[in-house]
Amino acid sequence: MRLARIQIMNQTIIRSSLKVARSLGCFRAYSTIRRAIYRFQIAILMYHRVGLSEDNWSFGPLSTLSFQNQIESLTYQGEIISLEVLASYLQKGQSPPSKTIVITFDDGYRDNYLNAFPILLKSKVPATIFLTTGNIGADKLHWWDQIGYLIHKTSLQEVSLSELGFHRLQSVKDRNRAQYLITQKLKTFDEDRKSWWISQLGASLKTDIPAGMGKKLILSWNEIREMDAGGVSFGAHTVNHPLLTQVPLTRAQWEIAESKKDIQNYLGKEVTTFAYPDGRWNMEIADLVQKSGFVCAVATSPSHIILPSDNPFTLSRIEMTGNESLNQFRLCGLESDLNKCFHRKAS
Ligand SMILES: [Zn+2]
Repeated sequence: MRLARIQIMNQTIIRSSLKVARSLGCFRAYSTIRRAIYRFQIAILMYHRVGLSEDNWSFGPLSTLSFQNQIESLTYQGEIISLEVLASYLQKGQSPPSKTIVITFDDGYRDNYLNAFPILLKSKVPATIFLTTGNIGADKLHWWDQIGYLIHKTSLQEVSLSELGFHRLQSVKDRNRAQYLITQKLKTFDEDRKSWWISQLGASLKTDIPAGMGKKLILSWNEIREMDAGGVSFGAHTVNHPLLTQVPLTRAQWEIAESKKDIQNYLGKEVTTFAYPDGRWNMEIADLVQKSGFVCAVATSPSHIILPSDNPFTLSRIEMTGNESLNQFRLCGLESDLNKCFHRKAS
């Protein structure tokens, strides 16, 4: 009993030291302490788009060569396992292999099929793609990409929209700023008000999104089936990508369950993994996901998994963009092993 209490105290001290090192930005100290204490490290990586394109209004994509370099380095430095396998370790309270890495993609962009899939297939690396099912086959861009397209393609030099504010649109920098601010503002609106404002934005900017744009950017079910046959797994990411913490629970329940059902219907197999849109969750939402038949769920908070006893429904991920990814690797103790991923020549 006394020993158990001492162990709990030690864990508390260790966690507090790590929190202090992290909050002070001492990522190297954090990494060193963590590696000295925990023999296993886990990093779940989050990608969105792969392959350079002209869509400067969408996610800044990682080049295909960078992605290839990262996968080669990760394969060499750690053990890449599927999210389902990681979930089974966590469910049993067991430690996964040391230096475990999991690859995930969010939102179901078509370049995952065109550019990432051939690399994953060749490297025999497992990955999970989280699908927003309402946009598949609907020739409809994700709502944040609709804003990006309209803002970047309009010929107007400024726009003023009561609730969304006044925005200059004279340079690409102006447009990026307007896109960011409007997107953030719309995230605070309910779903109906958000949809209404997106349609208003198109009218105010005198710009239409051309037919075919959604099909060009979003995966089709045929491509999803082909990747499924090639070993990629698919998880649910709702139907319409609402922030689940901001919609009524009944709507959240529907979004979670319906996206699972959609994928299961098309692939004929059970879907067991879930990603919270925008990484937003609370315990009520995590509970809904668990009760909907999933075995784990991933968020986006830049952190790490410390113990196998951690909640499999609130898993953190490292977003694979730019140099901040390296700091996140430091946070999970994998820095020195994975440095090469960032220092290899990439374009
Ligand atoms: Zn998403």
